[in-house]
Amino acid sequence: MAGNRQPEVNIGLVGHVDHGKTTLVQALSGSWTDQHSEEMKRGISIRLGYADATFRQCPDVDEPECYTVEEECPDGTPSEPLRTVSFVDAPGHETLMATMLSGAAIMDGAVLVVSASEPVPQPQTEEHLMALDIIGIDNIVIAQNKVDLVDGETARNNYEQIQEFVEGTVAEDAPVVPISAGQDVNIDLLIQAIEEHIPTPDRDPDANPRLHVARSFDINKPGTTWENLTGGVLGGSLVEGELEVDDDLEIRPGREVEEGGQSEYVPIQTTIRSLQAGGSNVDSATPGGLLGVGTGLDPSLTKGDALAGRVAGPPGSLPPTWEQFTMDVDLLERVVGVDGGETVDEISTGEPLMMTVGTATTVGAVTSARGNECEVKLKRPVCAEPGAKIAINRRIGARWRLIGLGTLTD
Ligand code: GDP
Ligand code: MG
Repeated sequence: MAGNRQPEVNIGLVGHVDHGKTTLVQALSGSWTDQHSEEMKRGISIRLGYADATFRQCPDVDEPECYTVEEECPDGTPSEPLRTVSFVDAPGHETLMATMLSGAAIMDGAVLVVSASEPVPQPQTEEHLMALDIIGIDNIVIAQNKVDLVDGETARNNYEQIQEFVEGTVAEDAPVVPISAGQDVNIDLLIQAIEEHIPTPDRDPDANPRLHVARSFDINKPGTTWENLTGGVLGGSLVEGELEVDDDLEIRPGREVEEGGQSEYVPIQTTIRSLQAGGSNVDSATPGGLLGVGTGLDPSLTKGDALAGRVAGPPGSLPPTWEQFTMDVDLLERVVGVDGGETVDEISTGEPLMMTVGTATTVGAVTSARGNECEVKLKRPVCAEPGAKIAINRRIGARWRLIGLGTLTD
């Protein structure tokens, strides 16, 4: 049964490295998002991890004990499914903020995981919360994790530190739920909080389908002969509309082609060969969770996340492609995630910026900066609607730091 339900909401797992995001996804879904061997070796979720979970309820049991992810209740009766959610397991490692930001573009809500065994906030706790704030994700639940490692007094002090830390932020009213993801403690309470604070957004099923591509794969084993090749696979979130097998699909900005020493991006046309949602193949996919889309594309085009950051939908329906754009800029007062929190200087003409637009991350050079309006020329174009939000990063020291929010004007 569980496998037949399609996910209807995307929930991000954010927070400092090693605070327990991946362990929590595992406790909630039974699947491990660190699938790739390199990720296993390095012990971090390098790319956005995927996992679906069906939250369930045991009939005739009081709250919160009734909430579970098990199909069988403790008394042996079957549990009833409530809804299926997709988790986006963002990496906590500081150099991978860009990946977290592109994940945030497809999150409907987030669980901020904070370890009870360390002072609050750790750098990425602060930085990820700021990113949620900037992107406007305000359906947040805070999981105070690893309570099994601390005594009662430490847990209470840490709880107060968390409350103080989120005061005045987008997470101000978020519930703080003490849990142990590792020991399966209070997972029922956490599910209850997610059910209450991260609702499924209203979506228009009749809208043009719009898929935000977060990953892309070649799922063939090395050495597969061409007649046995499976077409390239896109992984992402259908934010609007429905997709069906055999639908035509356009992908923008598409791929780079060289012609007479000039390179330009041309949209890619293909057909949907298969759809995977909620762990099984489906004929049509509804908006909400994470989706795998099998296409007729040469898998070399989709290999290794080559099409991450693209937008897909019916041919002719997609937003414009921008090689340069103007944005209204709203800068942060100070840089987060660094000691001392230096103030953010105005953007100046000529400086390079890294920008996240939807699931796309691209570097651009500022061609003109006046007041809070700024023109940038992009290294790689993006497909976006005017009004799209842009997370703006500046190189400070050895890495890109989030410095503000842009709104694409034209
Ligand atoms: P992530 O970097 O936030 O994804 O953190 P992980 O889920 O990889 O967890 C980091 C480490 O903390 C691992 O060794 C986990 O086994 C451990 N861990 C996670 N949750 C708990 C918990 O609730 N209690 C204890 N004692 N350890 C935990
Ligand atoms: Mg992890």
